[in-house]
Amino acid sequence: MHFGLTEEQQMMQDVARNFAENEILPDLEDDEANHRFRPELLKKMGELSFFACALPEEYGGNGFGYLESVILAEQIAKVSGSWRVPFNMQNLGPPITVAKFGNEEQKRRFIPGWTSGETIGFFAMTEPNTGSDVASMGTTASDRGDHWELNGQKMWISNAHVGDWGLLYAFTDKSQKHKGMSCFIINLKETEGITTTAIESKLGLHCAPTGEIVFDGAKIPKDSVLGEVGQGFQICMWQLNNTRIGCAAGALGIAGGAVAAAIDYANTRTQFGQKIGAYQMVQAQIADMVAEHEAARLLVYRAAWLKDQGLPNQFETSIAKLFASEAAVHAASEGMKIFGSYGYSTEYPAQRFLRDAHSLRVVEGTSNIQKLIISGISLGDKENR
Ligand SMILES: Cc1cc2nc3c(=O)[nH]c(=O)nc-3n(C[C@H](O)[C@H](O)[C@H](O)COP(=O)(O)OP(=O)(O)OC[C@H]3O[C@@H](n4cnc5c(N)ncnc54)[C@H](O)[C@@H]3O)c2cc1C
Repeated sequence: MHFGLTEEQQMMQDVARNFAENEILPDLEDDEANHRFRPELLKKMGELSFFACALPEEYGGNGFGYLESVILAEQIAKVSGSWRVPFNMQNLGPPITVAKFGNEEQKRRFIPGWTSGETIGFFAMTEPNTGSDVASMGTTASDRGDHWELNGQKMWISNAHVGDWGLLYAFTDKSQKHKGMSCFIINLKETEGITTTAIESKLGLHCAPTGEIVFDGAKIPKDSVLGEVGQGFQICMWQLNNTRIGCAAGALGIAGGAVAAAIDYANTRTQFGQKIGAYQMVQAQIADMVAEHEAARLLVYRAAWLKDQGLPNQFETSIAKLFASEAAVHAASEGMKIFGSYGYSTEYPAQRFLRDAHSLRVVEGTSNIQKLIISGISLGDKENR
């Protein structure tokens, strides 16, 4: 067993840390206040090969794996939870899913655009009445002979109103239940009958766009299907097990950011004639935050490593996502307490860490859903895959 990073992994970590500090941080609070998403930053991340991990080299992969994607995403999230989100949209979501289930033409046509950041990616399952129970979705794709016709509504979709090409999950035959769902590669900007609207009321992740999509008789070509007709549910579950590790990496980064800020503050703020870090109660808070953050890192790196080995990892991925997202919320919440009144001020990042961390307990399967997966495998009801 070896716990250290290789020289190359350390270099990637440095590149991501520098990028976050030099390209994201200087304008971050202004961008957050104005809910500003900057496509040019996405392209820069693409140029630095941030989105090319865990992909075959013939489609633009950089020769690195899930572990390196996690290492990069962690460093970005340490500064901004919002700017971690693109790792799921441009790398771990659509590209890796198309690399696995797509035909040759789809792989060559779509993957390079996503990984370079030129094409803004997305994936759409959630609807107003469908969240955890993905198979309850109402959106349909009807076979009209020479095209598919889309009807329905998606909600809470990252990049909905800025997205280009991405994955849509819809029913092609509702009577077949799970086996009647299919996955499509669609274009949001160039398809008639598709309208998108931004959701501006989010608590956090203000630089990561989220929105709604309405399909009103939208026509898409017959060859838009990813994999086989009726394979959508299987593709969706496979995809979620990958995008979930991206969320876990994001949580790890946010926890790290919250811990670092709290330690820094505890070492500078004085009350009753001493630094607040000299008080045992503050020390206990910091010890818990640090221990949980360190444990989260081991769990997240282990799950990513298992993916790179091609070994079963659903169990470990869910544990990593559950533990890291809860650790991030706890670290951010304790961090706010350590900052006192300044923790309650939007001038300090403590509250942003908490607002962003909460999203990670919800997306890609809530904490309860992770517990269902973990307990189901532990009790022998399901196999780890
Ligand atoms: C910022 C943000 C970005 C998002 N991006 C995307 C995206 O890009 N694409 C996309 O498709 N979706 C996206 N989502 C949606 C997200 O994935 C869903 O919100 C999530 O799956 C939970 O669904 P829900 O909100 O409908 O909650 P529900 O499923 O309604 O759950 C509500 C509560 O009930 C609990 N619950 C539900 N079922 C069970 C059960 N069987 N056992 C125990 N407890 C249960 C849940 O844990 C939760 O606490 C995004 C959401 C947010 C906030």
